[in-house]
Amino acid sequence: MELSVVIPVYNEEESVEPLIRETKSVLETLAKKYELILVDDGSTDGTYPLLLQLHESEPRIKVVRFKRNFGQTAAIAAGLAYAQGEVIVAMDGDGQNDPGDIPALLGKLDEGFDLVSGWRFPRQDPFLSRRLPSQMANALISWMTQVKLHDYGCTLKAVRREVARDLKLYGEMHRFIPAMAYERGARIAEIKVHHRPRRWGKSKYGIARTFRVVLDLLTVKFLLNYATRPLHIFGLIGLVSGGGGFLIAVYLTAQKLYYGAGIGGRPLLLLAVLLIFIGFQFITMGLLGEMLARTYHESQGKPIYVVKEFLGERRAQ
Ligand code: UDP
Ligand code: MG
Repeated sequence: MELSVVIPVYNEEESVEPLIRETKSVLETLAKKYELILVDDGSTDGTYPLLLQLHESEPRIKVVRFKRNFGQTAAIAAGLAYAQGEVIVAMDGDGQNDPGDIPALLGKLDEGFDLVSGWRFPRQDPFLSRRLPSQMANALISWMTQVKLHDYGCTLKAVRREVARDLKLYGEMHRFIPAMAYERGARIAEIKVHHRPRRWGKSKYGIARTFRVVLDLLTVKFLLNYATRPLHIFGLIGLVSGGGGFLIAVYLTAQKLYYGAGIGGRPLLLLAVLLIFIGFQFITMGLLGEMLARTYHESQGKPIYVVKEFLGERRAQ
């Protein structure tokens, strides 16, 4: 199998058939062995019966059906897990992404990249509820992760299987696939892709998603930079806080001993005690984190690095 196209669908009964037809006609021109994997994320409309019909008429259309709605990230994760292709393309099931962009994504991949992400340009969504929050989120994500992209929210992307296999997706993290892949050493590129207004059905998201994305960003940032060395971040906060508290306490002690000033009622005393407490807690939390990191890596035999190749004799295991 050379190519798998993964499409999450949740209540998209009108969109599915035209989109599949369009995608197939694009894929036929590529002359590659391909499969279409539709992940039905617990649809309650006519989506599933339709998918069943499509699968029966065309075995290259494969269907993963969830028991209930698990969300787009879970649907994409399932699609990646079931995909057999050397290259996997992910795409929205509502027809907003244009399957006509798939050849361009694959072309860019062939230039030596491991992941090519789409940049929806121009974006065909309402300004206030979608484009504005998305622009702010993109700027924030770009600033906080090492991967500089214009559009993290675009589902349309192509990725090599060995990169996809490594990804662990939770929450709303499909938009951090490039950042997580980069952490594993993947080479990332971005190309402009078409974006179309939604023709049928309605969007599954509202403004609340923005907050979830920001929280997920925090998780990703932490995992990318500190997952194998949690004490470096918690310990730093702990040292600054505890150190600050200690200095204040020294100052107050000097006041008391040399000048005989009463310090019992001073707010500064309270602050010193608080900072010292917080400092200890952060450092202890960091140490616990260090133990968790060891459990995580050693219990599963997961190294903390990714080897590209090894030249020489492998020692017998
Ligand atoms: N989707 C899904 N599960 C969900 C929500 C959405 O599989 O819980 C699918 C949906 O069917 C569509 C894609 O994810 O194919 C993108 O969703 P949507 O178009 O609502 O997002 P938007 O384009 O508005 O960001
Ligand atoms: Mg959409």
